[in-house]
Amino acid sequence: MTQHNILVLNCGSSSLKFAVINPESGHELISGLAERLDDPQASISWKIGSNKSSLLLPDASHQSASDRIFQLLGDLNLEQEISAIGHRVVHGGELFKQSTLIDSTVIDAIRQCQNLAPLHNPANLIGIEVAIERYPHLPQVAVFDTSFHQDMPKQAFLYAIPYTLYQQHAIRRYGFHGTSYRFVSQQAIEILNLDPAQNSLLCAHLGNGSSAAAILNGKSVDTTMGLTPLEGLVMGTRSGNVDPNLYDFLAEQCGYTLQQTSHMLNKESGLLGISGLSNDMRTLEQAESEGNEQAKMAIEIFVFTLAKQLAGLATSLGRLDALVFTGGIGENSARIRSAVVERLAILGLFLDPLKNSNNGADNNGVISKPDSPTVLVINTNEELMIAMDTHSITNTSSTITPSH
Ligand code: ADP
Repeated sequence: MTQHNILVLNCGSSSLKFAVINPESGHELISGLAERLDDPQASISWKIGSNKSSLLLPDASHQSASDRIFQLLGDLNLEQEISAIGHRVVHGGELFKQSTLIDSTVIDAIRQCQNLAPLHNPANLIGIEVAIERYPHLPQVAVFDTSFHQDMPKQAFLYAIPYTLYQQHAIRRYGFHGTSYRFVSQQAIEILNLDPAQNSLLCAHLGNGSSAAAILNGKSVDTTMGLTPLEGLVMGTRSGNVDPNLYDFLAEQCGYTLQQTSHMLNKESGLLGISGLSNDMRTLEQAESEGNEQAKMAIEIFVFTLAKQLAGLATSLGRLDALVFTGGIGENSARIRSAVVERLAILGLFLDPLKNSNNGADNNGVISKPDSPTVLVINTNEELMIAMDTHSITNTSSTITPSH
């Protein structure tokens, strides 16, 4: 019997997520995470059905963690179940407009995009290289976070800086979370029985990293993240939009180096920076309910910024079929969804408090009142989207080469 299960690898800067998924049923044979790589506390945990296991792998590198994962798949007799491997790649620059069968030209092209995502693409490449070494006989596919946004019009992706910087250095807005947006927008179209050629959605992916996108007729027409995933919304530890002159100001007034400002904006800002307490929304909601004023302020700024940018994104859509919430916060926080939608009454949006309070569980994810454009909660599944892409590309064995 031919097996169509896909091994999905998502190699982050200090973590490696993996799963073996049936792309047709969505069934996960195993899923797991190696984290804190290159740290004495490195560990790996995995789940098969409801059985969870974990072990410590002190100081494990990406390479040794992958070796352990491959060994685990072998021990569980899962290796022979795998027909192809799908890799998450963060930045495809302008070279990749869709998911792509990996060959040496593609690997070189991903390497070319490295300067655009110095924290992510090198780790993604390690994942690709170790998988090719271990499974040279299996086809491998790269699925890019950026590719879904490659259809954005120039007005949405160009910065108002000298055009030569775009021409010579590809400095532009790229957008991220594209795999998640593709998954949830397809789900929304199915759930609401929308015409795939004529629909109009706002989607908010709210996790540790957060962004939002306007999706018209299945294509991204605007999004909040930019050249890097720092632009846009307030996030767990990322500031989102700030005045770019902050770099000069902090250098001149406080003696900050470029690296110190970057570190502050990426790692010490956002919910953590404002609250001084945590980057985690659950912790902040709990603290707010106990009267912590800074947690309350962090949540208010998160909500205000999100509503403001969603309203801005709506200007790219002629009408609104649905607003979709996804990601850990979007899927689980009735408090945040309610506060955001309250600020979006100008778009005609109104929530049903009861449906919102149980995350739309009994209503196919729908949490809005009948006379409002639909507001939906959809659980994202980037791993399944990667498995589906990998399956469809390797099944038709079409080699899609990067476009230039
Ligand atoms: P990542 O971007 O790392 O994939 P997730 O999508 O898992 O992140 O989202 C993590 C965020 O979701 C955290 O801020 C977490 O507190 C938040 N979250 C998860 N469950 C809840 C909940 N029940 N209520 C509020 N926030 C939640």
